[in-house]
Amino acid sequence: MHTPVTIIGAGLGGLTLARVLHVHGIPATVYEAESSPTARTQGGLLDIHDYNGQLALKAAGLMDEFHAIVLEGRQAVRVLDRDGTVLLDKADDGTGGRPEVPRGELRRILLGSLPAGTVRWGHKAGGTRALGEGRHEVTFTDGTTVETSLLVGADGAWSRVRPLLSTATPEYAGTSSVETYLFDADTRHPAAAKAVGGGMLIAPAPGRDIFAHRESGGTLHTYVALSRSQDWFAAIDFTDAAAATARIAREFDGWAPELTALITEGDTAPVLRPFYALPAGHRWDRVPGVTLLGDAAHLAAPNGEGANLAMLDGAELGAALAASPGDVEAALAEYEPAMFARSAEVVAFEGAEAHGTDFENDTPRALIKMITEQGR
Ligand SMILES: Cc1cc2nc3c(=O)[nH]c(=O)nc-3n(C[C@H](O)[C@H](O)[C@H](O)COP(=O)(O)OP(=O)(O)OC[C@H]3O[C@@H](n4cnc5c(N)ncnc54)[C@H](O)[C@@H]3O)c2cc1C
Repeated sequence: MHTPVTIIGAGLGGLTLARVLHVHGIPATVYEAESSPTARTQGGLLDIHDYNGQLALKAAGLMDEFHAIVLEGRQAVRVLDRDGTVLLDKADDGTGGRPEVPRGELRRILLGSLPAGTVRWGHKAGGTRALGEGRHEVTFTDGTTVETSLLVGADGAWSRVRPLLSTATPEYAGTSSVETYLFDADTRHPAAAKAVGGGMLIAPAPGRDIFAHRESGGTLHTYVALSRSQDWFAAIDFTDAAAATARIAREFDGWAPELTALITEGDTAPVLRPFYALPAGHRWDRVPGVTLLGDAAHLAAPNGEGANLAMLDGAELGAALAASPGDVEAALAEYEPAMFARSAEVVAFEGAEAHGTDFENDTPRALIKMITEQGR
């Protein structure tokens, strides 16, 4: 007999776990803080890697659905110097191993693959406590509670389940991103659209990078990464979109106009996203009846791997539980050491560099590192 699984958080990690459990006939309930699947837009594109995220989707039996949402051509990468010189222009020949998909579509596929009622929306966990003998109680902010013999924290950076296992809390990682969108860019922002090309643009410099993705159609999504203190950002009034845009753009004075246009011509107000991280190599001693996955376990500053790792965690935990009917502890003892090692390796080697790629086939993250280290 399998123990029913209580999952907190319906992000990509929690949903992948629920799906893999369902494939193996193991009952699970996912409690999610958001009120509905459409309560929040789900962010931009995610590249799903053949060495982690795609393995999870295979275990979930969702590869056909995944291929149907891939945005063709988006694996193209252009790296530009700050004066607009093209340092690398790599087309998408379809062999890249990291197809780009809209995050919201990926979540929709996972949600659609679960039995009706699996996700309980509008259930924000407020606290958790141990009841003994591997059982735990979750209290939601509406005052209701659930008791469970297997609790999985898939509730992201600010996990309410994590304190059952660890005293670690995320700390500011020293970098924040400022995001904006340019719509109908080929017509309305042609220089910026040409600079970005068909996939991803990276314009790196020490402590300040411009990234942009071509999303569906002519939408460009700009992420400006600035290594500045939280006090520095606090001095900028992000409720005044024009002033905030001008202040961020000042950090790129002298850069090519097609690059700064990605900031100054934004069609949406700039949004500040500080990056937080748990200590590198975060781990805990085994506690009966509870574990974590994804950002709840190993939050890192964005390195292109977090969503992929969260999904693989979910798939591996699901497979371990399926392989040990009636023995939750055996499954968790198998899952956790492998998850600790996997996430620590990514942080240590900065994403895909850990997978021995070479320059021509390298990922954006590794390219940035190489170019910034050259002091460009
Ligand atoms: C700007 C940015 C860009 C990124 N780009 C990439 C990328 O290109 N590739 C990549 O692989 N990763 C990327 N990441 C990292 C990736 O987004 C995360 O690692 C990933 O979303 C983690 O998945 P998760 O399921 O663990 O957590 P989350 O996606 O955070 O999901 C957690 C879920 O739990 C819910 N929740 C939270 N608290 C509670 C609570 N108390 N009770 C109930 N529910 C709760 C949330 O509403 C959410 O639905 C990026 C991150 C950022 C910030």
